[in-house]
Amino acid sequence: PLIEDLDSLPFPDFDLEDKYYILNDSLTTEEPPVGGERLEYAYHMMTSRGCPFACAYCCNSEFKKIFKGKGLYVRRRSPENVVEEIEKFMEKRRIEIIHFWDDVFTFDEEWVERFKDVYSERIALPFVCYAHPAYTSKRVLKLLRDAGLIIVNLGIQSGSDRTNLYVYHRAQRAEDVIKGSLYMKELGLIRHYDLILDSPFEDDEDHRQTLELMLSLPRPFLLNTHSMCYFPKAEVTVRALKEGLITPEEVEGNAHKSTTAFLVDVTRPQPKLNLFWNILIGMTRYRVFPSWFIRLCSRNRFLRNHPGLMVPVVVNVVRILTKGKRIRDRYVRWRERRRRKKMEGFPIEVREENGTWYVTLRNPEKKKKRIMFSLDIYPLFQGRHQDRHLGWWNIYIDLPADGKKEIKVDYSFPFTVFEFDGKRHLAEKRWVGDFRDKETWYRVGFIVYSENGKLLGAKEIRVSPERVFEERRISLKDAFMDFLRTAPPKQNIFERVIGRIFRFFYKRAYPKEHAFFQNLPWLLYMMGEMEEEFKKLKEDVLSYSSAVPREEIKESIYKRYEEIFREEDETRGKMKEYVKYFRGKDPVLDAGCGKGEFLEILDKEGINAYGVEKNPVLFNHCINRGLKVEKGDVIEHLSSLENQSLGGIFASHLLEHLYPREVSDFIRLSYAKLKPGGVLVIELPNPSSLYSLLEFHRDLTHKTPLHPETVKFLVEDAGFKIKEFSFINPPEECLRLLESTGDDDKKLINKNFELLNKLLFGGRDFFLVAEKEG
Ligand code: SF4
Repeated sequence: PLIEDLDSLPFPDFDLEDKYYILNDSLTTEEPPVGGERLEYAYHMMTSRGCPFACAYCCNSEFKKIFKGKGLYVRRRSPENVVEEIEKFMEKRRIEIIHFWDDVFTFDEEWVERFKDVYSERIALPFVCYAHPAYTSKRVLKLLRDAGLIIVNLGIQSGSDRTNLYVYHRAQRAEDVIKGSLYMKELGLIRHYDLILDSPFEDDEDHRQTLELMLSLPRPFLLNTHSMCYFPKAEVTVRALKEGLITPEEVEGNAHKSTTAFLVDVTRPQPKLNLFWNILIGMTRYRVFPSWFIRLCSRNRFLRNHPGLMVPVVVNVVRILTKGKRIRDRYVRWRERRRRKKMEGFPIEVREENGTWYVTLRNPEKKKKRIMFSLDIYPLFQGRHQDRHLGWWNIYIDLPADGKKEIKVDYSFPFTVFEFDGKRHLAEKRWVGDFRDKETWYRVGFIVYSENGKLLGAKEIRVSPERVFEERRISLKDAFMDFLRTAPPKQNIFERVIGRIFRFFYKRAYPKEHAFFQNLPWLLYMMGEMEEEFKKLKEDVLSYSSAVPREEIKESIYKRYEEIFREEDETRGKMKEYVKYFRGKDPVLDAGCGKGEFLEILDKEGINAYGVEKNPVLFNHCINRGLKVEKGDVIEHLSSLENQSLGGIFASHLLEHLYPREVSDFIRLSYAKLKPGGVLVIELPNPSSLYSLLEFHRDLTHKTPLHPETVKFLVEDAGFKIKEFSFINPPEECLRLLESTGDDDKKLINKNFELLNKLLFGGRDFFLVAEKEG
């Protein structure tokens, strides 16, 4: 049976004692470098066993058959266990990067969430992992990026949906790849793609789709192009043999492609057509070949018949590029070494007491020295890119000859007060980026520059986002007084000369105004800050009118989601009734499409429709089902559309989740965005049935019970003409009052029963169909 509790397995033995390595035919006790310079300080490990997929060319499809009935195939270690192994290794050796070799690292969102917390807290080293296009939601990628993810290896294999779905049995579409890649780019992750080329199952159209997909991905990226290998018994092998696409000699065992020639090499002899597409697809990763040029080549008949002519050109261009890159990499490494050496040359000590940093600077020279001290904050895994700085704060300080000075750094976002020589100095913030991610860990640099901007030394510490965005501990009044007291010195020569002359006169003539204008950018910044705070406050008030804590609401949404999940067939059955209203009304918007049942029904009916969904769980669910859905707020989405661009709008159980003003906005916007003759179908809980009203409050995300008459009024007021209105979904018979039969004298009682039933147990929901008249 398969081992289910992976945490029960022991860690590898990291002790170097009594261990020998074979290196260059001789025994050594020294650990050999693994994988060259890039991987020298890397630790390689897996957090799971098994893969949720079973691609037709992969060993996992065979393993799944072999281990069928022998226990859970996909198993994962707990994040704590993973982190413990890394910590054990770190006790023995230096590591700078971790490679997670799990087949699909991103498949379990809940696990990733826990991993992020534990890993950022205890390890916080950059890492690399593999992902599948079906599991590249922005949330998962962001959680991992915040934990330290820097490179994602994404298996694309083919740009053709036909090949992926029907030949390789990979549950993914080209649009998943594009979406995932855009998220990765947005999050600043390095993208590394895998493709399978030389596939005998692919025709020209498939190759072209792969080429187009690669051209549509944001560049630059890294690319591994693999040549299809045939493993015995794998589904693709069996099929290729059956269809006569390969001979038994090409199957691994007889052939050794998987160990000797698994990467595509355009200098090797190969069929003309394969060579043609392999070159073009390989070119997509180099920015030196513009997309239009690659497309032009792909349509050129001469090149298609003589692809060999492209080889020397492409190979030499790539060779020059890689050589240039290698030189550049060497230069970057040299510069980094020099920087580190320099940084170590100027002694800086940092200690922290009650949330305040105390920095001791020593002047190693025999004469007094004027330095610029800088507090520099930037995200831990983003590199020191200017745009990604949270900001930096500078102050000029005179260090005594051969002496030291302690600076109290009182930092609280966005103000920093440096205190030394018994005086407080509000530092000048020279932020260039305005990077504010409240989940990412940050690096705080205490940096010393010479007066003319030469780096002398630096000390860096890691800080949590909570610390970086800690609430202000200085009052606005104090901050303002500090502004008025501090005249930040300028750095460049122009500012120094012109600024000094100007300030000399201006300061004397208008000292207060001078101080005011000097600090005007700060004031504006503070106002911006306050505006942000108000916005957030407003959002909070608007989104959580309930006194129930946020987490409880979140959980209840998930719970509800599960409930909906169980009722899927029932929901689908009811929704089919609405299809008739949308025939010939393309395109249809399913506003708040939930799990996308109605989209699926419309799709089957051949009606062009798409959905908009805000809830990330439901959105991902739709994406995984291959549905056309956009993530976002319905009202924002409607506002972004052109007027008269939709044929139909379906809003099933959406309006009760909106605030009254939003309900009216939604209806008005719907009218504006529908073409003449377009329909709006709304289904809502009916609060005029007491039973339904009672049910309404089960769901904590419900905001406004909407009386049918109110909805009718709003719809007509917006300009619609109501075509149909009906109460539907009555409560089950067993919930209704029993009616008496027979005698005439009981008619009255029955009539009352009827009234009572209507009041108590009227239809739980109602729907209406409204048309925008042409
Ligand atoms: S996703 Fe990757 S590891 Fe999993 S079955 Fe497919 S090819 Fe194999």
